[in-house]
Amino acid sequence: MRKGLLPVLCSLVLAPWSASRCRAQAAPKLAPELRAFVKEDAPLLALTHVRIIDGTGAAPRGDQTLVIQEGRIASLGDRTSTKIPEGAKVVDLSGRTVIPGLVGMHDHMYYPSPGGPPPLYPEHAASFPRLYLAGGVTSIRTTGSIEPYADLELKHDIDDGKMAGPKIHVTGPYLEGPGAFALEMHQLKDAEDARRTVEFWIAQGATSFKAYQNITPEELGAAVEAAHAQGLKVTGHLCSIGFREAASLGIDDLEHGLVVDTEFLPGKKPGLCPNPAEADKALLPLEVASGPIHDMIRALVARHVAITSTLPVFETLVPNRAPLDGRVLDAMLPEARISYLRRRALISDGAAKSDWPALFKKELEFE
Ligand SMILES: [Zn+2]
Repeated sequence: MRKGLLPVLCSLVLAPWSASRCRAQAAPKLAPELRAFVKEDAPLLALTHVRIIDGTGAAPRGDQTLVIQEGRIASLGDRTSTKIPEGAKVVDLSGRTVIPGLVGMHDHMYYPSPGGPPPLYPEHAASFPRLYLAGGVTSIRTTGSIEPYADLELKHDIDDGKMAGPKIHVTGPYLEGPGAFALEMHQLKDAEDARRTVEFWIAQGATSFKAYQNITPEELGAAVEAAHAQGLKVTGHLCSIGFREAASLGIDDLEHGLVVDTEFLPGKKPGLCPNPAEADKALLPLEVASGPIHDMIRALVARHVAITSTLPVFETLVPNRAPLDGRVLDAMLPEARISYLRRRALISDGAAKSDWPALFKKELEFE
């Protein structure tokens, strides 16, 4: 628990540039421009009257004292029983809460560029890392990279104290076939290409891979074998391959959950991504707790395949559900704000015909 609390202390209270600094034995020297982000970095610090949520599921505890020495938690407990060491800088955090740093399992660095075609998804290397930190996220997995060299350089700069950002675990470029959603993406030719791509990007520093919607079963099998040979894992946002087939090919993790599993569509062609609306229609009448969906869950459990929840993404597809938060709009470039608001309006206009209220409910039941 002590370790778990540390990242957030670094990110929200002590120094919002990098959790890794706090965990590292030797802290990197911070670039001068990063000093502006550091609120407190006294070697001995006592946070008093703070509410603690420790991330174990335990109830929040009020009026706690938290003592941090050289970036590590030295003691934590009730105000009455926790001694403030001599020489500590005391920071009264009445009304504030300390939580563990959040670990983002599916956090990209790109955003669609307005205009096109061709569709472009540029890296937002300055804003994304800071926005993740501002949201309390101190570690991320990029879960499919469009500019993998940019992600890797960003990671190095953050690790070296040159840039503000969370600890980054770089996923290699999307393992995708023809039909990629962005011009920047490589489109795999065959299983050998998948193997070579995985091996190349492991050598560059990628620590996980993500298969995408138009990958073939042969390519996925080859990618999994190449990644597993070096102790790395493969996740997928799949469409051409159903969950059970992906599990049998050795995939470790599946992004997004039930609503992207196409295996329930009768007559689905092997290795081809069907029309998503048709796949959704086939899924909707099925029960989660019985029949084919339940069988699929049991197959995933038997092979220890994890699911990455992305409910906040799906929530935006449900007409008029996700609140429109002014702070979100403030963080966007004007062009991004326009396209976001336009998309919200389109979803809202299509409310009468939308399958998403029912799909979202089914996804909640599944998770
Ligand atoms: Zn994604």
